[in-house]
Amino acid sequence: MEQTLSIIKPDAVAKGVIGKIIDRFESNGLRIAAAKKMQLSRADAEAFYAVHAARPFFNDLVEFMISGPVFVMVLEGKGAMAKNRDLMGATNPQEAEPGTIRADFADSIDANAVHGSDSVENAANEIKFFFSGREIL
Ligand code: ATP
Ligand code: MG
Repeated sequence: MEQTLSIIKPDAVAKGVIGKIIDRFESNGLRIAAAKKMQLSRADAEAFYAVHAARPFFNDLVEFMISGPVFVMVLEGKGAMAKNRDLMGATNPQEAEPGTIRADFADSIDANAVHGSDSVENAANEIKFFFSGREIL
């Protein structure tokens, strides 16, 4: 079964909407195969978003991702990667479809509530970055 990585970002954790966001996943056929709350270090955030290292927003992105705890999950289900991206909505919450997680819970393109892997290949690498095999059930 396909797996993808989801991160509930510091803004949504601080708002107390972890449960509401998990409900979106479980209500739409995605199973929580692994989950943990953690504080990313600067090195964690820089490595995780290394693909964006040359972008002008990289520093702000790293600062934001270490500004408080995150809640990291492996989601599993049919077409899990694309389904999660659909449920998340567009990167900029002002452009996100009504009813998506970012439309309902995000405030800005920086504080945009959730991360989701953008390909099945990246999902496999991102899952390995956060979880060992015995944490994924
Ligand atoms: P994520 O990877 O967090 O799931 P995404 O795949 O929708 O988001 P990416 O293009 O991978 O979007 O960008 C990673 C993050 O960098 C975004 O979530 C956003 O917070 C930030 N970001 C992306 N583009 C911009 C931009 N033009 N200006 C400011 N921040 C941006
Ligand atoms: Mg991305």
